[in-house]
Amino acid sequence: MPNEPELRQARLAENEVLYRNVNERIEDINQVFDAVATIGGEWICECSDMSCTTPIKATLAEYEAVRANPRTFMVAPGHVFRDVERVVRGNERFTVVEKLGAAAEVAEQHYARAD
Ligand SMILES: [Zn+2]
Repeated sequence: MPNEPELRQARLAENEVLYRNVNERIEDINQVFDAVATIGGEWICECSDMSCTTPIKATLAEYEAVRANPRTFMVAPGHVFRDVERVVRGNERFTVVEKLGAAAEVAEQHYARAD
């Protein structure tokens, strides 16, 4: 019998990694804008909802602080899946979540591959 909670955690993490890859491309663009303006960039919510494309306002520094840890993701407020992650910190614009268990392992494997 497959371990259902672990399969679910892995699937949810795969989705967040997908959006992280999208945000890495956005990061390239935001770096250009950051050079000409001090306003924060816009990012895509990295939550586990496959259909979610909620925009998040955050500065490049804020995004990079989250990105620096392969287990943490930037999601819109309330977009937290408590069976696979825990809230690390947050503000009125976004919440930072940390993957747990199998989801964290998937996230770290993808992080290693992307770099
Ligand atoms: Zn979301």
